[in-house]
Parts: sequence; C-alpha cells; structure tokens
Amino acid sequence: MSETKKPDANQLRPATQMVHGGVMRSQFGETSEALFMTQGYVYDSAESQEARFKGDEPGFIYSRYANPTISMFEERMALLEGAEAARGTASGMAAVTAAMLSCVKAGDHVVAASALFGSCLYIVSELLPRFGVECTLVDGTDLSAWKAAMQPNTRACFLESPTNPVLSVLDIAGVADIAHEAGAKLVVDNVFATALWQSPLALGADVVIYSATKHIDGQGRCLGGVVLSDAQFIEEEFKDIHRHTGPSLSPFNAWVMLKGLETFPLRVKAQTEAARILADRLAEHKAIARVYYPGRADHPQADVVAKQMRGGSTMVAIDVVGGKGNAFALENALKVIQISNNLGDAKSLITHPATTTHQRLNDDQLAAAGIGQGTLRLSVGLEDIEDLWEDFEQAFSSL
Ligand SMILES: *Cc1c(COP(=O)(O)O)cnc(C)c1O
Repeated sequence: MSETKKPDANQLRPATQMVHGGVMRSQFGETSEALFMTQGYVYDSAESQEARFKGDEPGFIYSRYANPTISMFEERMALLEGAEAARGTASGMAAVTAAMLSCVKAGDHVVAASALFGSCLYIVSELLPRFGVECTLVDGTDLSAWKAAMQPNTRACFLESPTNPVLSVLDIAGVADIAHEAGAKLVVDNVFATALWQSPLALGADVVIYSATKHIDGQGRCLGGVVLSDAQFIEEEFKDIHRHTGPSLSPFNAWVMLKGLETFPLRVKAQTEAARILADRLAEHKAIARVYYPGRADHPQADVVAKQMRGGSTMVAIDVVGGKGNAFALENALKVIQISNNLGDAKSLITHPATTTHQRLNDDQLAAAGIGQGTLRLSVGLEDIEDLWEDFEQAFSSL
C-alpha cells in the first residue's frame, strides 16, 4: 500500500473525513477505494504465515476477521463517530446481537427501553433470556424507571433514540450515569439520529451501533452494520465473538457503504431539512391530528432534544385523523412517496407501524408505545421538497 501524500484524517473536518478518511491505496494508486473481493490472503513463506497468526506480523489472515475494504469502512466510521475502534457487521441486527453478546454472560441482567426496533426487542427480551440473561423493559423516557430496574447483576443497558416510530428522545447522558453507577455498559442504537446529529459516546454511552443499511448506504442497496466503542471493548470483549461467530460484513457491501459515506453529510443534512419543513407543514393540516418531530417546540422531550441533538431526524411520524382507514387511504394515494418499511433511503418512504413493523404488539403494547391506528412513519428522501408536499396535498384531497 502506498502511503505517500496521505492526509492526517484526525486533523480534517467531518465532510472531508468522509471523503478521505480510512483510505488505503494499493500499489496501483487508484483514486476510488479498491474493492478487495477476496476470502483469503497468501503469504510469502510459511514463516510469514506463522508470524501473522501469532500476531507478530501485521496483515490480513481471513476476511471473516478483517479485509482491507472493510477496514477502510471501519476507519471512516470511527472518524465519523469519534470512536477509537469500529467493526463492520453483515446487518444492523448482526451488530446489535454481537454487541449485546459481548456485554453479558449467563446470570447477568439487562435493562432496555421498551420502545425498540422490533428485532432489537426480540434480542433483549426473548433471545438473551434463553441463555440465562434476564431482561427488564422500562419506559425509556423515565430516568427513575431505569434507576429502579438496576440490579447487582445488571451488565448492560440498551436504548435507541429517537425511537421508532414516534421519535421519543431518551436522555442518553442520564441513562449512562445510571448504568455506570450500577457497573453496566450503555449500548445505544443511533440509527434514527445518525452520527451527524447525535454522538452517544460523547454523551457517555459505551457502545454505539448502526444499521448501515439505512443512512450510511443511503440509497437502499446493501445490508450492513457497524459497532463502535473504545479499543479495549472491541479488542477484549467484541473481537473473538465477531471472529468466531461470523457476523462479518461482505467486502462488496463495505465498499458500497464507503462510497455512501462520501455523500452522507450532504444527504443527511438535506433530508433532515426537508423532514423539518414537511413536519411543520403537516402539523398545520386539518387531516393530521399530531406530528412527532425532534426539534419542534411541541416535541414531548424538547428539553432533551436541545441538550443532546445537533439536528432533528430524517424521520417524521404523524397521526392521521380517522385512524387506519384514512392512514391507509393516504398511503395509497401518495405517488412520489412510496409504501415501504425501510428508511434512510434517497427515496421517501412511508409505512403504517401498527400493521407492519409493530404488528407483533397487542393493543395495550401499541398504546404504551404511543402507536395509534392512524400513525404513519415517514422517511424523508432526497426529492424536491415541493414535490413531496404536492404529493401530500393531492393525497389529502382524496381522503
Ligand atoms: C433497521 C434497523 C435495525 C436493524 O438493521 P438491519 O440492517 O435491518 O439489520 C436496528 N435498529 C434500528 C433503529 C433500525 O432502524
């Protein structure tokens, strides 16, 4: 690898880091990051192979452990997050699972916010208990509930903020203090905020995870994930689980994510600005009973938003007057905005959580999560804001 004319990425601003950070050029001096689509690596000699396995010689061994394209992605993500270390994973859920397994063993206890992405809820409340790890779910917005749930064997706390789908904002610094007092680590799923607007590690969290499938790819192509933490956690708690259970990221997907990161700040800024404008216009419309958007004065945790977020979100949630019937009619009438349960895409996407992402919840659980039959979750894309608004207007007129 030629290392001539390589800037010190730590001295660069975030937008520049997302273009130049982590680059490892091959002997060919390519401009764009190379895609190392290889499972394994060859050695000059048996002695060299032995030294690499012993850890005495730097270099790659097998792509389940590490791969140059994946390493470039990890380095760029670590710069973005201000983390000491990062590891790519095959999906956001692979990141959550490996991160949680790295924190606990049988006999331990986990406290998690009840408002979680459905698969994350499965990991903490169904999968971990099968292996002797108890789980307590709490109302994540209530710090006294976190405090009351701590036990002598609590080893990890897990939350996402803003939450899916109604964008409640949880006090990360507050939960981190409670977790640390009890000797537990705080793991934060930062997908809805993105690294641009919220830095959980700086707020006191120990581990941050992303589904790179969302804003990091940003164009709806590849699944991927990433776990970020200090070097000690990654080396001592995470590395062996990652190496030996195999949630590794594909080099191809890592390459797509690397290219996605080049435009990540531009995209997330534009999508957040469009989401903010749409949220304000939707709030004024008589067909909408309520708008949920961090950054609006009527957000239930506006004080926490002001304290810990640098921007809103690319996501907006709305309650449509008239419940499921009108919510479905609105979705069906939209033409630019597509019906999809995905998010963070260049294309604006809308979904009805009660019948899709949160279908497993009963009526009481839906009510507790603040999800009504008229609730829709909108992921704002990169279209012209006026086309999105006109799409809503023509759809409203059909209700
Ligand atoms: C999508 C998502 C995940 C899971 O990510 P995958 O890449 O789909 O595995 C986890 N948490 C949140 C908040 C998500 O939006």
